[in-house]
Order: sequence, then structure tokens, then C-alpha cells
Amino acid sequence: MPARTGAEYLNGLRSQEREIWMGGERVTDVTTHPGLSGGAHAIASLYDLQCRTDMLESMTFADPGGDGRLGLSFIVPQSQSDLEKRRVMMLNWARTTCGMMGRSPDFMNVTFAAWAGAADYFGEGRPEFGENMRRYYDHISRNDLVLTHSLINLQRSRRVDGMFNLQEGTALQVVKETSAGLIVRGARVLATLGPIADEIAVYSPRLAQHTDQHSPFALNFAIPCGAPGLRFLCRDTFDYGRSHFDHPLGSRFEEMDSIVFFDDVLVPWERVFVYGDVGRLNNTATVTMSSAHTSHQGAAKNLAKCELVLGTALLMTETLGTSHLPHSEERIGELIMYTELMRACMRAAEADAKPNQFGVMCPASLPAETTRNLFMTAYPKMVEILQLLGSSSMMILPQKADFASPLAGHIESYLATDTSTAHDRVRLFHLAWDIACSSFGNRQVLYERFFASDPLTRARALAAIYPKKEVTDRVLAFLALDSAHP
Ligand SMILES: Cc1cc2nc3c(=O)[nH]c(=O)nc-3n(C[C@H](O)[C@H](O)[C@H](O)COP(=O)(O)OP(=O)(O)OC[C@H]3O[C@@H](n4cnc5c(N)ncnc54)[C@H](O)[C@@H]3O)c2cc1C
Repeated sequence: MPARTGAEYLNGLRSQEREIWMGGERVTDVTTHPGLSGGAHAIASLYDLQCRTDMLESMTFADPGGDGRLGLSFIVPQSQSDLEKRRVMMLNWARTTCGMMGRSPDFMNVTFAAWAGAADYFGEGRPEFGENMRRYYDHISRNDLVLTHSLINLQRSRRVDGMFNLQEGTALQVVKETSAGLIVRGARVLATLGPIADEIAVYSPRLAQHTDQHSPFALNFAIPCGAPGLRFLCRDTFDYGRSHFDHPLGSRFEEMDSIVFFDDVLVPWERVFVYGDVGRLNNTATVTMSSAHTSHQGAAKNLAKCELVLGTALLMTETLGTSHLPHSEERIGELIMYTELMRACMRAAEADAKPNQFGVMCPASLPAETTRNLFMTAYPKMVEILQLLGSSSMMILPQKADFASPLAGHIESYLATDTSTAHDRVRLFHLAWDIACSSFGNRQVLYERFFASDPLTRARALAAIYPKKEVTDRVLAFLALDSAHP
């Protein structure tokens, strides 16, 4: 089956029975559940977009091993041009969701494309694991499946050295090997998109700190979300069933986060990519450079988010008649700077791309990773700027129903501004509120702060890959001028 439509994706969700829990109840159909269906339909809209006749060329590529067309985020890039085409595709998706679905399927697609291109890495210790990776990539790309992933083990206490403190009975581990595969037990967080994905991938973050004692926990595998014994426990939904007018983002883009419990789940051998090899697990993202690819996807998402915040801020100041005030211009200037920095780093990552040891063209790590680190602090600041520009207008939010109430006349006359009707003003500020004040908006801030590990760990990781000698040599050369001319 080539690139799927939205209807095919939704049918796929319905056809795979899965155990999803929310608020004490089991969800029977995620495509119609009030708290989840908005997100499922948003993902479906991405699939519909890629199948539109006018978009097929820019959203898909010819399957090198078959006759169909595959989603472009599955491409194993061979050239800078491949990376640029993939970015155009990812930006189209990100702009469709205003950057509010960080875990849209392209995130995992680029991961597995990078791994399939580097399948020999997985086969170095166990040749069958390399073959498993190649076969699995063919499976997900040709069936255009949606993956969630859960990388983090729960910990009962913390070590000071930053290494994971993994304990039997909490962390996910292998409890038995059988001829069919591994039996795993434990829990993982945080599977964003989990309830509305087809498959779940389990591995470890790039900045993972598994120690030599952690081999029972050292795993990289993927299984269907409906695998027996797999249970997803959702947080409360931020889709309150309100209209798009009242709740423009939450009513559309709830990607849902979940805890995953593995109750003696069978992982078939053909779905195992790393087992028991701590070094291979820890080094996977660095050696295969999959983290440069996921950063490239993240940069597209960040750019779409910057565009949303900047566009909203500009409209807010126009509406309120504050766009000419110096402090508004200063704040807008800051938003422009973040937007353009994001675009520049994304383009630089493509321009300086190089093939890795497996022949896969990889975005340059430094500018790609910088987009992640930057956004951890920039996005909360951007949200703060919206709050500062909006002030009480963020709370002047009659609902759609109020426009048909006896107070409609008051609303229309008192809430209009020189540049906006009351209706347009309120509609805009519902959006600003959903970015900067609502539960949905606050979850986005938390997401940007933490989705790619915590800020301290990421700062240390960026410092670790920076070519420091280039700059220290330059300073030393400058200092040495003193001795040449005492
Ligand atoms: C909205 C959201 C969506 C997410 N989606 C996914 C997903 O789809 N898949 C996935 O796998 N993960 C996901 N994550 C999880 C993410 O990977 C983790 O949040 C991240 O790795 C940080 O881990 P943690 O939450 O356990 O934080 P903690 O490790 O609990 O850290 C909390 C704070 O304590 C500090 N801290 C912790 N330990 C130490 C220590 N030993 N010494 C000093 N300081 C310490 C940290 O710096 C941090 O500020 C998501 C997270 C969020 C918030």
C-alpha cells in the first residue's frame, strides 16, 4: 500500500483493537472518542494533504523498491536536495497543524529512515537485528504507518551523576526470552500520540545514560499498539469539545500524552533491533545521526510555530491599535528574530549537510541541534510576549454562543476597535489565549521545554559536540600578538 489517505489511516486505527484508558474508562474507538478524535482527524488531514493531486509530487517520492509512492519523510536522504525536498514536505505538514503537533508522523519516519540507512550498525553485534531494521522500515514506509515512541523509564529516585537509576519492577525490562521473542514488563513515558498511533517504538534518548549494569533494560524494538498486554493511560484531554471559534487549537490538535504499561508483552524477534547491548543503545542516535534528522524535523515544526506566534502578535497589535508603540515593536522584533534564526539554522543544517559513514546525507548537527536548544527558552519567551501584548484582551473572550445572545449588541458595539469588528477581535484573541494561556497552550510550553530532554542535559550535549578548539585557538592567536609586539 503506498502513501495513505486520511480515511485509510482512520480505518487502520479502528481495525486494530487496543487498550486505551482515560479518566477511569476504557476507550472503545479513538476515532470517535470526544477527547481523542480531534487529534486523530488532524493526523488524517496530513495524510489527505499528501494524497492531493496537486501535492503528491512535493509530499511523496517514488518507492525505490516498488511501484508506489511513499511519504517523503520516509526518504533515506542521499543528497542535499533530498533534505530540502523533505523539509518542504515537513513544513507543509507543520503549517497544517500550526506546529502544534510535534509528534506528527514525520518525527518517527525520519528516525527509522536514518536507522534503515544505517542498518549495518544494528547488525554489527547480531546480524539478524540489521535485517530486522531493514524489513521494519520497508513495512512502515510501504504501509505508511504512524509511530509513537516512549524512551523514558520511570525512576524511583535520582543519581547525582545524571545516569539513569533503573530498578527492577519499575523500568521496562526483559523478563524472559522465548523462541518467539522477548517478554517485557514495566512502564515507559511519555508516549505522545500513543492512543492514535499504529505502532510503538521503544528505545533510549540520545542523551541516555544507561550504565553497564543496565543490560536487561537496553532495548530497541517496535510493536503494534494493539499488542496483547500493552496498556496506554492518557492524561486528561485538552479538547473540551468546544467549537473551533472558542478553542481554535485544542479542538483540533490534541496529540495526547500517555503512560505505557507493558504487562508481559511479547516482542517478536523480528521486531528487535538492540537487545542487551548498552553501548550500542547509548550510541545509536549519535552514530546513525538520527538525532540530526529529528532535529531537522523539529526545526520545521519550530518554524511553523514561530510563524503562528509572530502572525498572531502582529494581528493583535493591529487590532488593539498598539502596533506603532515602541514596546510593541521591540517585542515583535524579538519574535521576528526567533523566526528568522529558526529558518536560518534549518537552512544551514541543509547547506552544510554531509553523508555519514553509511552514505546517508545528514543535516549538519550543530545548526540542527541548536534549533532544539534555542526553542527550549525561546518558546516560553514567545508565549510571554503574547501575554504582554494581549493583557486583558486575553480574557475579553465572549464565546461563540454569546454572539447569538441578548448581549450580542453590546458585544458588537463595545468590543469593536478602529481596525476590527468585535467578532474578528474575539476570534483572534481566542487563538492568542489558546497559544498563551489555555491548558493546551501551557502543555505546548512544557513540551518545548522538555520533549527533547531537559535543558541542562541538552546544553551539556551541545557543548560536547561543539568544535571548541577552533575558537580557543583564535583567541590564543590574538593573545599571542602581545608577545610578538611587547
Ligand atoms: C509534553 C511532553 C511530551 C513528551 N513526549 C514524549 C514522547 O513522545 N516520547 C518520549 O519518549 N518522551 C516524551 N517526553 C518526555 C521527555 O523525553 C522527558 O520529559 C525528558 O527526557 C525529561 O525527562 P523527565 O521528564 O523524566 O524529567 P526529569 O528527569 O524528571 O527532570 C526534571 C527536572 O529535574 C532535573 N533533574 C533530574 N534529574 C536530575 C539529576 N540527577 N541531577 C540534577 N537535576 C536533575 C532536570 O534537569 C529537570 O529540570 C515528553 C515530555 C513532555 C513534557
